[in-house]
Amino acid sequence: MTLKLYNTLTRTKEEFKPLDPRNVRMYVCGPTVYDYAHIGNARPVIVFDVLFRLLRHLYGADHVTYVRNITDIDDKINARAKEEGTSIRELTERTYAQFRKDIAALGVLEPTYEPRATETIPEMIAIIERLIASGHAYVAEGHVLFSVPSMKDYGRLSRRPLDEMIAGARVDVAPYKRDAMDFVLWKPSDADTPGWDSPWGRGRPGWHIECSAMSWKHLGEVFDIHGGGIDLVFPHHENELAQTRCAFGHDVMANIWMHNGFLQVEGQKMSKSLGNFVTINEVLKDWPGEVVRLNMLKTHYRQPIDWTLAGLETSARNIDTWRKVVRDMPSSNTQVDDRFLKRLLDDLNTPDAITKLHAYVGYARETLSYSHGSPKPEVAAGLLNAATMLLGFDLGREVPTGVPIDETFVGRQIDTRLAARKAKNWAESDRIRDELLAMGIVLKDNKDGTTSWEVKR
Ligand code: AMP
Ligand code: ZN
Repeated sequence: MTLKLYNTLTRTKEEFKPLDPRNVRMYVCGPTVYDYAHIGNARPVIVFDVLFRLLRHLYGADHVTYVRNITDIDDKINARAKEEGTSIRELTERTYAQFRKDIAALGVLEPTYEPRATETIPEMIAIIERLIASGHAYVAEGHVLFSVPSMKDYGRLSRRPLDEMIAGARVDVAPYKRDAMDFVLWKPSDADTPGWDSPWGRGRPGWHIECSAMSWKHLGEVFDIHGGGIDLVFPHHENELAQTRCAFGHDVMANIWMHNGFLQVEGQKMSKSLGNFVTINEVLKDWPGEVVRLNMLKTHYRQPIDWTLAGLETSARNIDTWRKVVRDMPSSNTQVDDRFLKRLLDDLNTPDAITKLHAYVGYARETLSYSHGSPKPEVAAGLLNAATMLLGFDLGREVPTGVPIDETFVGRQIDTRLAARKAKNWAESDRIRDELLAMGIVLKDNKDGTTSWEVKR
């Protein structure tokens, strides 16, 4: 059986052939951490979690490397921190902790690497230096710009006419630019703005170079799959691939580019700027994570979803039914049925795969002959359970299992809290303690001034 995926680069469904089946590599653009993630932001996280699980099933759990980054350098972050009167670090740590908590409740597996832009500055500088050396970038008034005309096939991913690209790129018209399409790789920071030392002075990266650096660091110059929401095709992904390809001289950055459609409210994309959003956090107050997840996967990932209460209610009933079937007919069968798998292998056809789940319930309930002659209801219940695991719903448990604890993250939070305690900032210290508690992590302050922790879920 072969996996077929729709490739935005070629506009066709293609057979997936990994560069190295012993290390299948996927990069997905993660959140910009300045505010609660909304339920639209959860869509790529859930869709690519299903793909991650499927790849692990096909190639082995140890043979898939999944990178989902954290964008923690961004002018929206700087503006929000200023508005709130908090430090950038405090804002990004708090938002990141909330994001982790939200997606843990959605049953999302931890990616192999979750790099942060702030930890990848040397790689960004290295790529920019290569681009300058090869004539694909130039320095102008403290900025470094990518020279779009220097790349012959710029625009191959988004396939837009030039005038549309200029309008869509929303790049500033600046006198130091050689071409209107040229975009920023590095820009100067004033004393109030975060900045890093570089060969071009103290400054900060543009958004696109962050992902080129993080994917290069963990996946190499060319890898298998690059994903994100459809709004990222242009300019973000077009520019990412321009940078990476020109820096390393390859024909592609990733072989397959995958994009999820929008989650919409009354026909409009859910977004912060339109103000028509509900946060994941708010949705999870009313609905268990697996219900949200099922509701999301009932629509094919490339189609738009209209997010409705009625949809959530039906999904909640489905989960109840499935749970009951699995509870009433325990089974040790952990096989994923080929007929279910075949549907997922067809460009992640989750709605079709979910239809198959309803059929298992029918088989289990009615003890009907299971079309190839095995009439046992517990076999069907086992198939249901195994199949749902591949989609990320664990029917055997009443509460979502969530992601494993990230010890580095906990350590970092403990350090921040100790610093707050030293400064007698008790409110901040309590806030961090409560935030960890909500993730099931209990802190214990020891007599000698250190803090240990344990997990209670
Ligand atoms: P952002 O934090 O805005 O960069 O978005 C993080 C991810 O969520 C990106 O992959 C976006 O494409 C995706 N995204 C944002 N809004 C929506 C939406 N309404 N529906 C689906 N995906 C979205
Ligand atoms: Zn990105």
